[in-house]
Amino acid sequence: EQARRKQLRYASFDTSLSVEISDRVALLDRLRTALTDNELYIVLQPKVALKDRRVVGFEALVRWQTKEGQQFSPGEFISLAEASGLIGQLDRQVLKLTCEAIHRLNDEGIFLPVAFNASPTELLVTDYFDKLMQVVDASHVDPCLLELEITETQAMLDYKEIGPKLRNIMALGMKVSIDDFGTGYSSLSHVAQLAATTLKIDRAFVSRLGHSSDGEHIVDMILKLGERFGYSIVAEGIETEEQCQYLVNKDCHVGQGFWFAKPMKIEPLLQWLKDKALAASQPEQTML
Ligand code: C2E
Ligand code: MG
Ligand code: MG
Ligand code: MG
Repeated sequence: EQARRKQLRYASFDTSLSVEISDRVALLDRLRTALTDNELYIVLQPKVALKDRRVVGFEALVRWQTKEGQQFSPGEFISLAEASGLIGQLDRQVLKLTCEAIHRLNDEGIFLPVAFNASPTELLVTDYFDKLMQVVDASHVDPCLLELEITETQAMLDYKEIGPKLRNIMALGMKVSIDDFGTGYSSLSHVAQLAATTLKIDRAFVSRLGHSSDGEHIVDMILKLGERFGYSIVAEGIETEEQCQYLVNKDCHVGQGFWFAKPMKIEPLLQWLKDKALAASQPEQTML
């Protein structure tokens, strides 16, 4: 009986595993067509000055909706794209869409930087930066309006190789953010000389504000590092007024999170910006 049960257990494990694998193969197939059929689009999340809630920039985040209307979030397909080598193409498509969004914003008189995410593994590809600049040049976007976000891990581990290339694009005016800062493998000795303009405090620490002194200590420490070494700091994943106030009191200037705005498609975003400007121009009583 025991042997039979064991057999059964293995059998069910095997089936679910192979289902999982064929799911991933099917998804990969669909992702390939998504890239050729332009099923990917971007949403933009505002970054705001914490003191007065003024918008200071945006982050572009990829979304995928299939022709049949099925929605996938980056968590479901970015790792697959990375593992299959499609990520370079995907990230370039997102950069193109980001440049289009910048033009749309510029048309409305909005000249604020828009960040795009780069898969850390891609940065090591020999012609990554050449291809990036080709897209930027072809789209005639001012590099000052672009910001590259890379996660801490690879940026630190392969610092010698990537650092000079990042400095090149920074020399063109492009900003470079270290995303999810605090979760990677940074050694403190590297923090002083990162080829970056900005550190983004990971959501994991921001969400702990008010609940855990550990979270607070880490946030305090990142803010001090930023001040000491001249990086601007962005706190990501702000979901409450308390988190916002904590950060304001510690002199953190910029934040991003559902408390201020969710990521939006460009047209709703433009409307949101207009409504916000209108509200700001009204005397306070009429807002009540
Ligand atoms: P990220 O770059 O750290 O982006 C922030 C993520 O946090 C986004 O999730 C955003 O929607 C979410 N977020 C923002 N504010 C809040 C908040 O207040 N609370 C909570 N719970 N979440 C918040 P999203 O869009 O699902 O993206 C997840 C990750 O996927 C991104 O993390 C980024 O690493 C990656 N990603 C997104 N777009 C791209 C892309 O075009 N290329 C590459 N390579 N990676 C991308
Ligand atoms: Mg990011
Ligand atoms: Mg992040
Ligand atoms: Mg993140």
